[in-house]
Amino acid sequence: MNAPRPDARPISVLTIAGSDSGGGAGIQADLKTFAAHGVHGLSALAALTAQHTRGVTAVHVPPTDFLEAQIDACFDDFRIGAVKLGMLASAEVIDAVARALERHRPTHVVVDPVMVATSGARLLQEDALDALRTRLLPLATVVTPNLPEAELLLGWKIGDLAAMSAAASALRALGAPAVLLKGGHLAGPGEVVDILADAEGEQRTAHPRLRLDAHGTGCTLASAVAANLARGLPLREACAAAVDYVHAALRGGYRPGRSEVLVLDHF
Ligand code: PLP
Repeated sequence: MNAPRPDARPISVLTIAGSDSGGGAGIQADLKTFAAHGVHGLSALAALTAQHTRGVTAVHVPPTDFLEAQIDACFDDFRIGAVKLGMLASAEVIDAVARALERHRPTHVVVDPVMVATSGARLLQEDALDALRTRLLPLATVVTPNLPEAELLLGWKIGDLAAMSAAASALRALGAPAVLLKGGHLAGPGEVVDILADAEGEQRTAHPRLRLDAHGTGCTLASAVAANLARGLPLREACAAAVDYVHAALRGGYRPGRSEVLVLDHF
């Protein structure tokens, strides 16, 4: 009998998220990040936003059976090393994505619990928080909230590093096996500290704070973690390398629109 042939397909990473017509965040940031990490990018559009560097002007959510068809098409053909979840818009969409992931059982799922854009636009309906907690956190390899998102998921304020540490543990207790809690919103000077909490404890990474108004950092970070996991890096290395990647992309950021808002450099 012949030995089974090795799988010659390159590794793909699938983003299930929202589109940003301005090319700075969402699916567009995800695909640029995947390309920069040398993995093939797949996308299932959960929502479409009409958006520029000053804000979101309209949102369209396609029917969930069409979203599931996109996800199924990707799993039917490609060698998917990881899935990244971004803007999912509503509880109904979250439920459809959870059902699809339960069907296909990908090795890694990075959940970016997108709720409100930096510009203030709501990207997840308020009544969808519970679906995010109960349906998505248990499916995650790692969840990557910023501080306002973690506060909404937990229902309490996070004002310092000790509170960040407690919040990361509390989010794990909600069912996510690992949490990368981003400290960029913590007030005060000094470094930005991100905390990864996993079964072994905590890993902290620190970078000098760049005082820049940037767009798409959260999407880029979660996509870089997913690409690194798909390429076989252990979670702690995948997260540390992703934080470095976002920092470098921010340093090279540019302003494609009329506002001061930076889009990250992925080249
Ligand atoms: N638009 C889409 C489709 C997004 O997924 C996100 C964030 O995840 C944003 C906009 C907001 O990005 P930012 O808060 O970095 O401006």
